Amino acid sequence: MRFSGLRVLKEGLTGNKGWQPHWRDPEPKPAYDMVIIGGGGHGLATAYYLAREHGLTNVAVLEKGYLGGGNVGRNTTIVRGNYFLPGNSEFYSHSLKLWEGLEQELNYNVMHSQRGLINLFHSDGQRDAFARRGNAMINQGDDAELLDRDGVRAFLPYLDFDNARFPVYGGLYHPRGGTARHDAVAWGYARGADARGVDLIQNCEVTGIDIDGGRVTGVQTSRGAIGAKKVGVVVAGRSSQVAAMAGLRLPIESHILQAFVTEGLKPCIDHVVSFGMGHFYISQSDKGGLVFGGDLDFHASYAQRGNMPMMEHVMEAGMTLMPMIGKARVLRSWGGIMDMTPDGSPVIDRAPVEGLYLNCGWCYGGFKAVPGSGHCFAHLMATDRPHEAAARFRLDRFRTGHGLMDEEGTGSQHNLH
Ligand SMILES: Cc1cc2nc3c(=O)[nH]c(=O)nc-3n(C[C@H](O)[C@H](O)[C@H](O)COP(=O)(O)OP(=O)(O)OC[C@H]3O[C@@H](n4cnc5c(N)ncnc54)[C@H](O)[C@@H]3O)c2cc1C
Repeated sequence: MRFSGLRVLKEGLTGNKGWQPHWRDPEPKPAYDMVIIGGGGHGLATAYYLAREHGLTNVAVLEKGYLGGGNVGRNTTIVRGNYFLPGNSEFYSHSLKLWEGLEQELNYNVMHSQRGLINLFHSDGQRDAFARRGNAMINQGDDAELLDRDGVRAFLPYLDFDNARFPVYGGLYHPRGGTARHDAVAWGYARGADARGVDLIQNCEVTGIDIDGGRVTGVQTSRGAIGAKKVGVVVAGRSSQVAAMAGLRLPIESHILQAFVTEGLKPCIDHVVSFGMGHFYISQSDKGGLVFGGDLDFHASYAQRGNMPMMEHVMEAGMTLMPMIGKARVLRSWGGIMDMTPDGSPVIDRAPVEGLYLNCGWCYGGFKAVPGSGHCFAHLMATDRPHEAAARFRLDRFRTGHGLMDEEGTGSQHNLH
């Protein structure tokens, strides 16, 4: 079923009786050519591109809960291509280009809104660092503009520019940055994969990975054994646990990241804004809620909820930057489990077990990566060769030290990235 304005009109006039389910609810088959563990954004995008680009449709996505119930439906929805280091820079640029055609490609409204992202800076040194980042973005073929104080004021008049501790010096403006509706991205990819014949199997937890003679042969699940020639592990915060089923110890720690949303307000924040002196970033959803978040909770955990000290930190940072936010009432907060690597950059690589592939380590920046990650991981699984945009996301960099991409320059501590 194709979606269109005409279709909405027709259904509206005929009692909305013609809509069909977005995807089937199939029973698992005894075996597939490929099994993807994890029905988040990355797993669903991988399945979609396996079918769309490589014609591989004897594929199942196994999800222990419901599609989109993980981080893909829990993030603050920021989409950008403003990374600095080689490796990350070309990958996120590739992903942003895929975002720009995604709604047409999927025939699905993912509400991708390129409203512009502004990273604020508050010192001369920070200005230099952002100028350098902007130049790297332009060299990569993406867009960046360094704004002075008046340039920021023209866009964001509501900021506290003269805060005694953290006055605003300017900002790095990334016009193609913005937001998208997070769970619609999962649904759009799910629908596209299902339509091409991929089986999306929910309530199906993988409990073991079968290996025979050093080669993957399938998985054990809460719905029985399923054979597979190739298995992709795409489980975000659960990456270490699932990889351990194949005897692997990943260089990943799982940490909690929280987000918050206020009651719906009239439009007041037109961009995505990121504070340079505390971990705080904010945008306004199309429903009017202010959506914002901060830093990790700083202790490793598998709980999908956060702690009070980090809530306090986020609220303080928000009040410091834009005191008007104090009038808004917070409706909800929640947490997601982040797969943090020591250099803050991801892994898209073959595992040291034949037929097993790893897609993990997205830390708290993996939503914007969904199209690029699915595209590159599908390429790797289908061809056994890395896609050029993700060639540096190798697992062995953590063993050899060669090719580390410490984007934030914080050193090898998982929770500092
Ligand atoms: C609060 C918050 C804010 C964020 N903000 C941003 C942002 O603004 N921009 C950005 O780019 N990124 C952001 N992120 C990060 C981003 O959401 C994640 O990096 C990304 O969603 C992770 O990939 P995923 O969508 O595939 O993960 P998930 O949606 O978590 O998918 C993994 C799936 O694997 C399933 N699974 C786990 N174990 C098993 C098993 N044994 N068997 C079967 N299935 C299993 C899980 O149930 C889950 O559905 C944020 C994250 C959070 C939590």
